[in-house]
Amino acid sequence: MANEPPHRAWRAACPGCGAPVDFASAASASAVCSFCRSTVVREGDALRRIGVSAELFDDHSPLQLGAGGTHQGVAFSLVGRLQYRAAEGTWNEWHALFENGKSGWLSEDNGAYVLAFDRPPLAEWPASDELHAGERRLVDGSVWSVASVVSASMLAAQGELPRPPRMQGSFTVADLRNERDEVGTLDYADPAVLAWSVGRAVRLAELALQGLRDGPAEKTLNVRQVPCPSCGAALAPTLASSLSISCPQCRAVVDLSQGAGGDLRHYAQNNSGAGGLEPQIPLGSSGHLALGAEGPLDWQVVGYLERCDLPEPGGDDEQTFWREYLLYHRSTGFAFLVDTDEGWSWMRPLTGAPRATGTGASWQGLAFSQRWRYDAKVTWVQGEFYWRVQREERAQVTDYAGPRGALLSREQVGDEVTWSLGQPLDAAVVASAFRIAPAARAALHRDSAPLSTLGTLGGGSGGLNQGVIMLVVVLAVVAMMAQCGGSDDCDEAKATFGAASTEYQQCLNNQRSGGFRTGGGSFGGYSSGSGGHK
Ligand SMILES: [Zn+2]
Ligand SMILES: [Zn+2]
Repeated sequence: MANEPPHRAWRAACPGCGAPVDFASAASASAVCSFCRSTVVREGDALRRIGVSAELFDDHSPLQLGAGGTHQGVAFSLVGRLQYRAAEGTWNEWHALFENGKSGWLSEDNGAYVLAFDRPPLAEWPASDELHAGERRLVDGSVWSVASVVSASMLAAQGELPRPPRMQGSFTVADLRNERDEVGTLDYADPAVLAWSVGRAVRLAELALQGLRDGPAEKTLNVRQVPCPSCGAALAPTLASSLSISCPQCRAVVDLSQGAGGDLRHYAQNNSGAGGLEPQIPLGSSGHLALGAEGPLDWQVVGYLERCDLPEPGGDDEQTFWREYLLYHRSTGFAFLVDTDEGWSWMRPLTGAPRATGTGASWQGLAFSQRWRYDAKVTWVQGEFYWRVQREERAQVTDYAGPRGALLSREQVGDEVTWSLGQPLDAAVVASAFRIAPAARAALHRDSAPLSTLGTLGGGSGGLNQGVIMLVVVLAVVAMMAQCGGSDDCDEAKATFGAASTEYQQCLNNQRSGGFRTGGGSFGGYSSGSGGHK
């Protein structure tokens, strides 16, 4: 049984309370007493108390101590846990002890998991304040892209650990990615010895995990309910990993990253979506779609975003608008369905990082060329998201095109870079996958042709329906244009009253109020940004 405790290798009395502290590995240097939370280190045949861990923060992780699985034919069990906090939320590094005595770290990444192993100490490493998201660095003899740099602190520790946890102060954690689809983590907690680990994405299904907290190997939850901090309606995120959720009643966007207690941060949304223009693929619906190597899977719509680009002032570019659906599959993680004026496509976040080269990029032997580079803004969201949705979040986006229609996209939000890879998708495939009613299908095609010809696309379902659909589409586009152009700045107040005026400052203040803290960081030292695309 995987969820039985691993064979006990060593036991000693806790110096804090006298309870027995068990070690499954003779190599583990440290542990946390499960009774009094004393952190202890092994010294010969005894334990020395070095401090006390705070209580664990209930983050609804599906993993727990004692859960077990198999990786590349070797069984492991989770014997310890480090829980971290950064501005973007909390995350866990689970200490996985393998049958062969090796230690690994299992952590979450964009709804997928990463299994990493400590590497031998580096002879030299970059100073933490020299690292910046987006740049390339030579570390441990190979080239990496810096995906994020966050200031983190250790919140709590549990169980058996290969080294003593450092419970005091904050430190830098830098997340690196490369073309071999690897994740490198530089952890500066101990100023004397940098912790350096390298991992890869793993799927829960392939780890054959047993003994999970919710039973089946999925991250769905259904038990967490929090009142909306704005209107009091019940919010019920369905995924344990969701960090933001919109209120179905008042449409506020609520930040779940710091737990459900206390005053949840939130901001109001007051644009077109509230007028009843629902996503064309309903939230909660499932579609049977092939979005990558796994073949067809049932993907559930859990989130919906409306975005626009921000053309340079005075430039020739026309502003465009698009929509993104966040899809979830329990053992595969997240994907995006993107609906633009060039048609539909799907995108999946990458664990690694392609190499950007001037106006191109390369990923696992495929060459891509740059198509667009622009700033984008989120104007409206509904549903739940695995990252902290910021009010009017802005990203620098670069889109690339590759062989056989392949799409590649790079997004940078503050100090975090995410890449994603995908393919175009026919609107008819989307419509049948989600069983969109024939009368509503024309709207799915709305952007692949000028609005005036929409009537010819929907088939023979009657002129009245199509007229209504066209009107809805026109209203949607007009509303999106209004919110994209108007809510974004206080130019009018500035032009009328001047930059130093009370009116202008008031306008700026109104925009800021209620918003989340902006700027940078990532969830868990791992990427959390929208893998979204134009
Ligand atoms: Zn104790
Ligand atoms: Zn509400």
